[in-house]
Amino acid sequence: MEFSLVGDITVETNSELIRQKYKQIIINAITFFSKETGLTIDDMKIHIVISRDYINDIKKRHYQPDEINDINSNAMFIPKDYQNEEFRKIDKAIIIVNLMKLEAYQASLCSIESIIIHELIHYYDYYFIYPNNVIDRYGKIICSQPGSIEYVIFGYFQLRSEFRAKYFQEKYIVSGMEEIKEDYMSKFLVRIEFSNNSNLFYTLSHARGQLLCWETITDENQAAKDYIEQRKNEIEDIEKDKCIKNVADIHTLVEFFDFCDKLKSAQEPSAIH
Ligand SMILES: [Zn+2]
Repeated sequence: MEFSLVGDITVETNSELIRQKYKQIIINAITFFSKETGLTIDDMKIHIVISRDYINDIKKRHYQPDEINDINSNAMFIPKDYQNEEFRKIDKAIIIVNLMKLEAYQASLCSIESIIIHELIHYYDYYFIYPNNVIDRYGKIICSQPGSIEYVIFGYFQLRSEFRAKYFQEKYIVSGMEEIKEDYMSKFLVRIEFSNNSNLFYTLSHARGQLLCWETITDENQAAKDYIEQRKNEIEDIEKDKCIKNVADIHTLVEFFDFCDKLKSAQEPSAIH
């Protein structure tokens, strides 16, 4: 069953009960997203799938279905460049929510809303920042060749987006809290995964996003400040060891472009010769 939520935002579910439950959840997420980014409902063209068959629902829409295996994420964002021919024609960003997983750990309404906000931030980065700010400067780096500098720049574009998505997701979760406690932070701080590079990059940028968010609301709580400082130091050691840029330092567009420009000019032969 597919229904039109508001404006050009559509939602797909397989039951009336889920439709009723998710309607308000998605509206709450969009309201927060809109307030944070300044995008209005009229700017948004999105299709959201509330899925009980997560992997197959991704495969059905993804341009490389064979690459999609063993994914156990809460949700996934599929921008147009990663959609197959059939779905590209519909010309909508796609968000797929892993309902089975959310039900299995009995996710709270607030947590489901925060997950949708996370995916909406990716939407903002891929559908507004990328075409309006990135392409002019570095070209269509989404499909660049591994080994090229454009590929590295796109890698950092993705990490920056992960950082921002996690930052705003966390901001939404803690917005109702008066103060941030150490036991909350130690329970929910993303664990850094070393199993492969993409997991390492991914978890580092998420942890950085959370720490920056918490830092803004610790105020006078010294124990919380110390906790954050300690975790930042540990993460910095990992980044230095693996030669990974701290993505919190390049989260504004100015910082991001400055960093990428330097990467690019370091690759090019000097004009003086
Ligand atoms: Zn993400």
